[in-house]
Amino acid sequence: MNILVDKHALDTRLGPTPAALDPRWTAVASRGPRFDGQFVYGVLTTGVYCRPICPSRLAKPENVSFYPAPSDAEKAGFRPCRRCRPNQSSITAEHAEVITAACRTIEESDELPTLESLAGAFRLSPSHFHRMFKAFTGITPRAYGVAYRTQRVRSALTERRGRVTDAIYERVSIQTVGSMSRRIKCLA
Ligand SMILES: [Zn+2]
Repeated sequence: MNILVDKHALDTRLGPTPAALDPRWTAVASRGPRFDGQFVYGVLTTGVYCRPICPSRLAKPENVSFYPAPSDAEKAGFRPCRRCRPNQSSITAEHAEVITAACRTIEESDELPTLESLAGAFRLSPSHFHRMFKAFTGITPRAYGVAYRTQRVRSALTERRGRVTDAIYERVSIQTVGSMSRRIKCLA
């Protein structure tokens, strides 16, 4: 109890932590894409450093320190985040638009689009598109498509209990029904 009281007294005396007052913290809190590539931040509690736009759960400002470049964060002992990959080339707002559009295409297609057709729609090479998609979403385009379809079938099944076959045939293309049926059996 005494420890808590003392800590409270200390917090009151020191006021807000320096990181919370740093304008870069505002950039992190808002995840603004225009700050991407301008600095990175390390999170003391995880030992990981991130881009300002990282989609991971926001750290507490008192656990955050800022670095001008990924190499500075690594010198300080942080390792790159697996989600935002701060040590790879910058994700711009333009990239974000491409990825969002690609996600819509995957969601709206009856069959999973090939990597070549997705990349081609944005005039990108398949390997570049694949890397970009994974850097932004944390998963591959194919994994995204499968996850989206699995989720969609599960919702359909919840809505219409008992009409399993209808739901599957209505929502999923014929080619994927075999694997989806096996998945449903596992879920049942
Ligand atoms: Zn991150």
